[in-house]
Amino acid sequence: MLLSVATRSKQIRRTGVRCVSQLTPRNRLSQMFIPTSKEKVAASNADAVASHSLMLKSGFIRQSSSGIYSILPIGLRTIEKIEKVIDEEMRAIGGQKLALPLVLSSEMWKKTGRWDGMGSELFKLQDRKESDLLLAPTHEEEITQIVANELSSYRQLPIRLYQIGRKYRDEMRPRSGLLRGREFMMKDLYTFDESLETASVAYDDVQGAYNKIFRRIGVPFAVAEADTGNIGGSRSHEYHILSAAGEDNLLTCYKCNYTANEEKATGVLPETHEAALKAQSTTTPAGDNFLQLLNPSSAHSLGVQFATIKASLVDKHGKRTILEDNALVAAVSSSSREVNFLKVYEVIRKHMESKVAPDQQFVRSEISLTPSVPDTISSSQSVHLIIDESAEEGIEANEDTLQNAMKKLSCKDIIVHPKGDYRVAHEGDFCPSCHTDNVSSKLITEKAIEIGHTFLLGTKYSDALDCSFTPREPANAPKLPAQMGCYGIGVSRLSAAVIESLHDDAGMIWPTSIAPYRACILVADNKNPESNDIAEKLYDELNAQVSINDPLCNEVVLDDRKGGFGFKIRDAEMIGYPFVVIVGNKTRTNGMVEIRERIKGQKSHQIELPITEAVAHLKQRVAEKLAV
Ligand SMILES: [Zn+2]
Repeated sequence: MLLSVATRSKQIRRTGVRCVSQLTPRNRLSQMFIPTSKEKVAASNADAVASHSLMLKSGFIRQSSSGIYSILPIGLRTIEKIEKVIDEEMRAIGGQKLALPLVLSSEMWKKTGRWDGMGSELFKLQDRKESDLLLAPTHEEEITQIVANELSSYRQLPIRLYQIGRKYRDEMRPRSGLLRGREFMMKDLYTFDESLETASVAYDDVQGAYNKIFRRIGVPFAVAEADTGNIGGSRSHEYHILSAAGEDNLLTCYKCNYTANEEKATGVLPETHEAALKAQSTTTPAGDNFLQLLNPSSAHSLGVQFATIKASLVDKHGKRTILEDNALVAAVSSSSREVNFLKVYEVIRKHMESKVAPDQQFVRSEISLTPSVPDTISSSQSVHLIIDESAEEGIEANEDTLQNAMKKLSCKDIIVHPKGDYRVAHEGDFCPSCHTDNVSSKLITEKAIEIGHTFLLGTKYSDALDCSFTPREPANAPKLPAQMGCYGIGVSRLSAAVIESLHDDAGMIWPTSIAPYRACILVADNKNPESNDIAEKLYDELNAQVSINDPLCNEVVLDDRKGGFGFKIRDAEMIGYPFVVIVGNKTRTNGMVEIRERIKGQKSHQIELPITEAVAHLKQRVAEKLAV
């Protein structure tokens, strides 16, 4: 009736390299530390997302302190599988792995301006000599310094270095378990190239690798154009898992797949909106309207938003030149649209940097816009006027209206920036990529969890930390700063995001690629010694038939715990093993086992087959599910 265990030694000789679990004791749930619980262990409401609750209930994690978690053995198996997929794809594009310290000196961070610039999210500490240190939130400074010390010639480039390690961010409100903790695990890759062109090739390579990583993991993901934010740089994308638990809003077009973070998204205004605006715009005389916009006493009631601009340049010795410390920006859009200050920031930044004389060397500009509500405008202030294209048409300025406004407001200067897109894009706007007069395509909002990010950094860090090389040509040319890219994946966050994307009322539904164990052999009635015996033999047989490279090697657990079938199958579905093999009455009486396959939102797919076919069936289904 049962498989012949005698075939086992033959099999081992044939495959040569044995699966590790043939050499170690059986993976028995009765002897493993997997503290599952029927009760919801999640404490506060803020942490009540499904992934956090399921990870606690299934014995994947335990909270150490606010936003800091211990990863228990079964949780670590999933994390390590994610890391293995990442390792393979990083190495495939020439990434070399290294390990960088968690405790960093503040010296480099002061040089790049991030010691103060990153604010209270930095975990700062001091050693016994009262030197400033920090717990690493990211490693651009560290890696750039390492490469700077070794780099001299273009011949050493390109360099691609990555690590997988812990990082720290002192979140004001840590929440949602591993989705937003104060300590988290990340992969970060840093690339160093000769030119912007070769750095762009690196960027494309990493995007290719990221697509492979998320496809191999087996979870639906979206790639969005992103804002480059305070990290600087010119190209940036975010990788997301769509989920209601996400804190990011994406605007996406289902026709052409245009997807962008709402901070970055551009939406074409609906025609009806444009027509309504045109109708309004005929009623107000241009000159008066323009003046009203800039005069704080009337501007607020017209929905104009003000911000104070501070701008300075820092050279490589840390010397600061102040460009502006008291200018104002007045930004206006139509009454139904909020101004997007990230877009306003970009145009102000470009304006400030363009004012610098070509021979004035600086490694970075520090520009801030702080919302303000001025009572008046003083004669020492310049005013930057930003008009979104959704705003009324009558407010274009000509030379006369400008001179008139300057006289009446008695300000230092008025700079009118070209009309453009300075508004927050909305769901229902037309797609900027594929909408035409003939094809109507609208943007839809999706909630999402960010799991990866790519940045083409340029020379922001290599300039500041003097990471430069002698170029290929011409001879005796001055050294050039390396063109850098940085590329992250939130490893611990990804494990939780996968659960958010793939779970149901019964529990987690792991993709076979990263499931903690791919199959569980469940003894339905362990009071019957014969059932235990059959299950153990099936377990041994399965391990005998897999080589060390087989996707089932060391991937099977035996649920031999005391307790009824109901308790065990609930645990198995909560943990989300892709396959459960049930050894029960029917196995004893007629040699049949039941195999259940975990599928989202449905009763498990169940088949019954002779126990002699169970191993072949499992091997085939696991291979099919892993095929990308
Ligand atoms: Zn589109």
